Amino acid sequence: MNTSTPGLSYVPNNPQSPWQMYLQQVDRVTPHLGHLARWSETLKRCKRVLAVDIPINKDDGTVAHYEGFRAQHNLSRGPGKGGVRFHPDVSIDEVMALSAWMTVKNAALNLPYGGAKGGVRVDPKLLTRGELERLTRRYTSEIGLIIGPDKDIPAPDVNTNDQIMAWMMDTYSMNVGATATGVVTGKPIALGGSLGRREATGRGVYIAARETARSLGFDIAGSRIVVQGFGNVGGIAAKLFKAAGAKIIGLQDASGSVANEGGIDVDAAFDFVALGGKLTEFKGVTPITEGEFWALKSDIFVPAALENQLTEARAKTISTRLVVEGANGPTTPAADDILHDRNIIVVPDVIANAGGVTVSYFEWVQDFSSFFWTEAEINDRLERIMVEALKAVVAASEKHKVSLRTAAFIIACTRVLAARELRGLYP
Ligand code: GLU
Repeated sequence: MNTSTPGLSYVPNNPQSPWQMYLQQVDRVTPHLGHLARWSETLKRCKRVLAVDIPINKDDGTVAHYEGFRAQHNLSRGPGKGGVRFHPDVSIDEVMALSAWMTVKNAALNLPYGGAKGGVRVDPKLLTRGELERLTRRYTSEIGLIIGPDKDIPAPDVNTNDQIMAWMMDTYSMNVGATATGVVTGKPIALGGSLGRREATGRGVYIAARETARSLGFDIAGSRIVVQGFGNVGGIAAKLFKAAGAKIIGLQDASGSVANEGGIDVDAAFDFVALGGKLTEFKGVTPITEGEFWALKSDIFVPAALENQLTEARAKTISTRLVVEGANGPTTPAADDILHDRNIIVVPDVIANAGGVTVSYFEWVQDFSSFFWTEAEINDRLERIMVEALKAVVAASEKHKVSLRTAAFIIACTRVLAARELRGLYP
């Protein structure tokens, strides 16, 4: 008799939550796993989740406490790998789902990593630079128990950047008594970071869109593109689309939505926002409502913000041919089905935004060997890995007659569970 504990008592039972979304995605892949399906329950649990308290001294003399997490979903294929986000909506549920998607992403790209993710429940905009540094350092110290260059390697995610990675690297190094550049990726170039890492996620989104559009019989040049999110992922991807001759006709960030039928000058808009300007106040765009944004007619729609954006209701009305997921978990499983019925192709997050972790892998390898590659070498290897991975996913989707997402999950989960089976259970 199987007496496994059913589900996980520490995850809220909210059907809309990212973890529940992930569990539904696993259910879709299990019938395609053959004898490895015996191990599929492994995928529905996190190997390890650490919740930490992060007290910091505020500039005004008070002490504030923040909640932090690091989840290691699976370490069967190698050390944990995945970003750290600072956001007021971070929760144990979200971090667990994001760590599981990293397991799938790393395995889909055949990177020698398991999946992990971390986060702090905080709005970093409300902190001074000094407070942000103290928060980052205390968080790093607290999760120092389970991270390390050969254990689990954090990286940037929503609202974290190369400066935060530098503080994480320094804190970890101070605690172990040696400079350990390989403990995080996405570092500044001067500290063992990799050329091309900052742009890598956006570049990967561009490559995924270009290849898939080509297979559907249209070119990026001349196509109409809408991008949700204008940060490191959406912003860089938008610039690459424009450079390839596409028109970015709609953009949305935390300040609101904007449009320009003739195409937005995304390079100038990116610089304007980087200098503290509001996207909605940029010259040459018309502010539009949220409803108008989702009603824009495009060839390619790139959700590059947060989870749960392409909902069932939006999937029914969105007017596009191709969705390329720059964010993690932007499309709900119910929306996936509707898009599938409407013949709208979705390139899933676990492939489309894998450019970032792929160049993170290059950074980690370069740090270990203390030998650094040129930007051309990085971009060339990224291009090859992304194109190969996409081809394999398209082939699997044709073979199993499933969506690209389920196909990516089939490839990835087969790799993860094959490793699980070969290693066996200890004790
Ligand atoms: N946060 C990024 C992601 O979701 C990158 C992770 C990494 O480089 O480890 O894929």
